[in-house]
Amino acid sequence: MDAVPIHDIFVIGGGINGCGIARDAAGRGYSVFLAEMNDLASGTSSGSTKLIHGGLRYLEHYEFRLVREALMEREVLWKAAPHIIWPMRFVLPYAKGLRPAWLIRLGLFLYDHIGGRKLLPPTRTLDMTRDPAGKPLKPLFRKAFEYSDAWVNDARLVVLNARDAAERGATIRTRAKVVRARRETGHWTIDVENLPDKTVETVKARLIVNAAGPWVDRVLAGAVGQNDVHNVRLVQGSHIVVQKKFDDPRAYFFQNKDGRIIFAIPYEGDFTLIGTTDQDYLGDPREAKITDAEIDYLCAAASEYFVEPVRRKDIAWTYSAVRPLYDDGASKAQEATRDYVLKSDVPDGQAAIVNIFGGKITTYRRLAESMLEKVEEHLGKRGKPWTASAPLPGGDFPATGFAAEVAKLKSAYPFLDLGHAQRLTRLYGTRAKTLLGLARSQSDLGRHFGADLYEAEVRYLMNQEWAVTAEDVLWRRTKRGLKLTPEQTNALDRYMSGARGAIAAAE
Ligand SMILES: Cc1cc2nc3c(=O)[nH]c(=O)nc-3n(C[C@H](O)[C@H](O)[C@H](O)COP(=O)(O)OP(=O)(O)OC[C@H]3O[C@@H](n4cnc5c(N)ncnc54)[C@H](O)[C@@H]3O)c2cc1C
Repeated sequence: MDAVPIHDIFVIGGGINGCGIARDAAGRGYSVFLAEMNDLASGTSSGSTKLIHGGLRYLEHYEFRLVREALMEREVLWKAAPHIIWPMRFVLPYAKGLRPAWLIRLGLFLYDHIGGRKLLPPTRTLDMTRDPAGKPLKPLFRKAFEYSDAWVNDARLVVLNARDAAERGATIRTRAKVVRARRETGHWTIDVENLPDKTVETVKARLIVNAAGPWVDRVLAGAVGQNDVHNVRLVQGSHIVVQKKFDDPRAYFFQNKDGRIIFAIPYEGDFTLIGTTDQDYLGDPREAKITDAEIDYLCAAASEYFVEPVRRKDIAWTYSAVRPLYDDGASKAQEATRDYVLKSDVPDGQAAIVNIFGGKITTYRRLAESMLEKVEEHLGKRGKPWTASAPLPGGDFPATGFAAEVAKLKSAYPFLDLGHAQRLTRLYGTRAKTLLGLARSQSDLGRHFGADLYEAEVRYLMNQEWAVTAEDVLWRRTKRGLKLTPEQTNALDRYMSGARGAIAAAE
């Protein structure tokens, strides 16, 4: 008798696409096993500009299908996760000699009308000589357009999809690398290397979803053993985080003289996030790192607009990630399609692998639905599409009810200061109460690691959200890395390895 059970679906990759698919599939009744070789969202999905957006710029490339789908997702996702997703207004200054005002107006007219907008406010024109948005900018920008999109905490969106998938029965493994996948009669046998101790686990599944993002071709060439693999074009994008340049809650959309655009976005209270860049990338996606030229480019592009220039010395943090764009043969990186393509490979009725090329955070839920259509072709139909109206963990409160949730948390835990209550509600929504449990005072939260990070939160992240290292906690589950000193980070790391040891000994 075969002791290894055969799962329906094996998902390679714990980025937004892998976790979104695992959630959708588990909710429809498929048995799902997901393996992520590092931490959840440690690939591209924590390195985005963090916008749930239609992609105004993609209209110039006639990507109407993508823009429409993405625009429609803005309110769907906001309602599903109002703690980590919220509306944001963008100020697009008109700049003489760049795109004409009529073209911008036309783009924004389409933006307002093709995407099923209901709650988000429409575009308006600003007189920058009077509007507070004009204040931090050079006086030559006298007119601007203000439009709606949304902000997302990208890394948390990934983890919440994984959490929901697990609660619906999926197995989620992190630090688990797929090293080999071979076809046997009617199913796949997959070797998964457990990275901490290099032990190999064998898993069987009837279908593989290759959601390895920028590693998608490497998985095909390596673990699956295909020849001549070249489906994606890797394009690096970097961001800089600087001490805040403005107090306004709105973000800026700046046009550059090279035809590209960059955003300057209010970030984590005290900072401004500026990005991004587009440059072809050939190395290991894990090694992507901002270059001097990218720093110079971003500082110069933002300084064209701000009265106070953006200088290297203002930079508090940088991050870089690699877009896995479907290789459509475009000559410039910025022109390559941002749409996604799903391709099945099923030689002579054997077990199928479906590969994902491209995609956006914004469209991950729709991509998962399209993937489930492919899954149904191979494995037969189970449940219906369901994710359009289901909240993600902690998101079960009204889309406009964030302030009320903070007030509820403060009244249940009066010892929290307002900033702490807001931060916990932003990250965990209604699950902040699970994290805080029976705490009646600050000291009940356990050891203090710096800023407002306490043991209770770290334990929650280790037990519920697959956090293993200080980096997982400080740079993906939270952004407390911006506040903690290197000594505090080391202390957290030591605490977490001790706690891991205690968990392992108890198992
Ligand atoms: C600079 C930049 C800005 C962006 N801005 C936005 C934005 O504002 N809005 C938006 O909607 N989109 C944006 N995007 C696009 C979006 O971030 C990506 O399309 C999306 O995150 C890709 O997700 P993914 O799950 O396909 O890939 P990833 O997040 O990279 O996930 C793939 C995972 O597979 C794992 N993996 C690889 N090989 C193996 C293996 N052998 N075994 C196990 N696991 C493996 C990796 O470790 C990785 O975690 C941006 C992208 C970039 C680079």
